[in-house]
Amino acid sequence: MATDCAKSLLYKEYGDPIAVLQVTTQTIDQLASDEVSVKWLLSPVNPADINTIQGKYPSRPALPAVPGNEGVGEIVAVGSNVQNLCVGDKVVPNGPNFGTWRTQANYNFKDVSKIPSYLSLVEASMLNVNPCTAYRMLKDFVPLKPGDSVIQNGGNSAVGQLVIQLCKLWNYKSVNIIRNRPEIKELKDQLAALGADEVLTEEELRTTQLFKSGKLPAPKLALNCISGQNALEVSRHLAHSGVMVTYGGMSREPLTIPVASLIFKNHSFKGFWMTAWTKENTESKERVNMFNDLALYYKEKKLQTPLHKLVPFNEYQEAIASATKFDGRTGVKYILDMTKS
Ligand code: NDP
Repeated sequence: MATDCAKSLLYKEYGDPIAVLQVTTQTIDQLASDEVSVKWLLSPVNPADINTIQGKYPSRPALPAVPGNEGVGEIVAVGSNVQNLCVGDKVVPNGPNFGTWRTQANYNFKDVSKIPSYLSLVEASMLNVNPCTAYRMLKDFVPLKPGDSVIQNGGNSAVGQLVIQLCKLWNYKSVNIIRNRPEIKELKDQLAALGADEVLTEEELRTTQLFKSGKLPAPKLALNCISGQNALEVSRHLAHSGVMVTYGGMSREPLTIPVASLIFKNHSFKGFWMTAWTKENTESKERVNMFNDLALYYKEKKLQTPLHKLVPFNEYQEAIASATKFDGRTGVKYILDMTKS
């Protein structure tokens, strides 16, 4: 028996998000005994959401589908067999492709995780993907010690801003590459305020003496979310036996690896996908520890959310259009405010 209605964004075919997304109203089924009903509050718009709607992402949900990989919601009803969750609890998805761009839906209680009450809604809405990606890439590929350098491109991306802050917390030196722009000083200052040790434009990277001069040790770890020529330039600065971890391809160009890099510098090139890590580690101690650490950093104000802008759900097109822009330069992470529908 249907009891209530919810609004959602829906796509029936893969394609340009602005063209294929439509607002629909759906009935919410009566709650099963092992389900909770979640009213979604905030849901970020991430590049992976856009790529999924375009049909260009490895996860291809069955159509029709509701987009939205992460978000924060409030439990508004609980089934009779639900354990450890109550009405009023704030929850986040416990896995990918959750379909959070909707106002309300029912889920098995094991598919959502309660978040500590001290997390703000914005912090919670962006907890699952970007902070975890930054955390894992810094922990899992190279044993870093205080004073070691990490270099990354996309230094101003949401993931990049979290990498900067975690490096600061863990005493690694972060070297952050960004694209040049008219307001470059403001952006450099912003990233420095987050804890960036060095912020260089792509052009400055080509001629920098930062490592040759001994000011900073050559980086053992490079994080690449741009690929193309940018990543090639970054890789030239890796220390001997250093590792480049690729987690994005925002330039839409392939990653080119110089032969000398492999033969003479013993560089390794690896990839990281948070979705795959989460699938393999859903119940792991590492995952629990990671969420505890991140929540604590937010609580102690040692971590701040990437620059963002809340957009009312009924004005979703602004957020989608901006996140879909071919040449980037968005400036902020858009978050859909599902309460304004
Ligand atoms: P943001 O939207 O916050 O940042 C995007 C970044 O990409 C900015 O630094 C932007 O720079 C740059 N950029 C955008 N378009 C281009 C372009 N055409 N050429 C060069 N640079 C460009 O993104 P997120 O931090 O959320 O994600 C960053 C990347 O990481 C994405 O590719 C995303 O899919 C990926 N990702 C991967 C994960 C994984 O598990 N593998 C997990 C999380 C994210 P500018 O300001 O100059 O435009």
